Amino acid sequence: MPSERASFAERRTRAAAKLRERDFGALLLSPGADLFYLAGYQIFASERLTCLVLDRDGTATIVCPAFEAPRAAVASPELARATWEETDDPYAMVASLVRSSGTVAVADQMWAAFVLGLQQALPRRAFAVASEITRGLRMRKDAAEVEALRLVSESADRAYARILERPFAGRTEREIGVDLAELLRSEGHEEVGFTIVASGANGASPHHDTGDRRIAEGDTVVLDFGGAMRGYRSDITRTVHVGKSGGSEEQKVHDVVRRAQDAGYAAARKGASAESVDGASRRVIDEAGYGRFFIHRTGHGIGLDGHEHPYLVRGNREILEPGMTFSIEPGIYLPGRFGVRIEDIAVIDNDGSARPLNRADHAFATVS
Ligand code: ZN
Ligand code: ZN
Ligand code: ZN
Repeated sequence: MPSERASFAERRTRAAAKLRERDFGALLLSPGADLFYLAGYQIFASERLTCLVLDRDGTATIVCPAFEAPRAAVASPELARATWEETDDPYAMVASLVRSSGTVAVADQMWAAFVLGLQQALPRRAFAVASEITRGLRMRKDAAEVEALRLVSESADRAYARILERPFAGRTEREIGVDLAELLRSEGHEEVGFTIVASGANGASPHHDTGDRRIAEGDTVVLDFGGAMRGYRSDITRTVHVGKSGGSEEQKVHDVVRRAQDAGYAAARKGASAESVDGASRRVIDEAGYGRFFIHRTGHGIGLDGHEHPYLVRGNREILEPGMTFSIEPGIYLPGRFGVRIEDIAVIDNDGSARPLNRADHAFATVS
C-alpha cells in the first residue's frame, strides 16, 4: 500500500532527524518492533544478521543474507539492500554503511552476539539503545496504528465473550488456554502471544504458568490473553467465577478492582503524568485495605510490542499525550486464596480523555 510505504519513509525521516538532534551517528536495527516500525519488515530473529542501517544523513540500507533478499525486497521495496553470502563478514558490511560519526544506537532486543560483533567492527564508537531514538516516535500512535490496536482489541473481546459460553468446571487450565488460543485465531488474530489461565489460588500469581490444575465449582479464574494482528498487539484480562455466585469476598475484591480501574481511566488524560494513573488506581485499592496485595504497576504501553513505553508506574513523570496507548490493569492477589485483575487497553484521544479500545463486559462473569 503506497500510503503505508510513505509512512515508513516519513518515520525514517523523523528518526534521522532525532539522530542528528542527539548527535548520534546511526541506528542499527535487527529483527523486532523498531525494524518493523521503520521499514515494514517483519522477520524472525536468527543467528544470521539482518540489520537496518539508518545513517543520520537519512540513508537507509537493509543488510541481510543474500538468500533472504527477495523477502526483504517484497517487505521494503524502496530500501537499498546490501547482501552477504554465507562466508562474508556481515559486521564489516554494516560498519561500512555507518558513514556519520557519533554514537551508534542498536535495537534494545538485539542479541548480545550481534552487539559484540558490531562493537568489534566499529571500535572507538559509543553504543546506546535504539529506544533513545525510537521511543518518542513509537509512543505516539498515528490514526492507522490506533485503528489497528482497536481492531485487535475487539478481536480479543470477542474471544472473551465466546470463552464464557464454554464449560470451565472439571476442565484444566491448559484446556481453557487452548480454547482461548483457538478463539483468538478464529476471531482474527494472526498470532497468539500468551494465554494465562489462573484458577483458585493460582490466581494470586499474576503471571501464573497455565497448568494442569482442574478447575472446580466455586473457583475464581483470572484470564489474561493476547496476540497480534498486522503486527499490533492485544492484551486483555477479565476475572470470572465458576458456578452460581462468586464468594462474598471475591465479589467485594472484584468491585474494588473495578473501581480502581475506573479511577485509572479518570486520571488518564492528556497532560497527566504516567505515574498519576498508577497513583489513582492504587489509592482506591489502598483505601479498601488491600494495598499490599496490589503487587505490580498499573499498566504498560502497547503497540508493536506487548510491553513498551510509557509504563504507568510510580516514578515515571512522562506526560501522557494524544495517541499514547497503554493498559490499565489493577489487580489484587490474596496468597493461597485467589486473585482478581481487570485489564483493558486505552488510548488518549484527541479530546484528551482516555478511551477504552476493549469493550468486553467488566462484570464478575459467571461461567459453568
Ligand atoms: Zn502482565
Ligand atoms: Zn495482560
Ligand atoms: Zn498487560
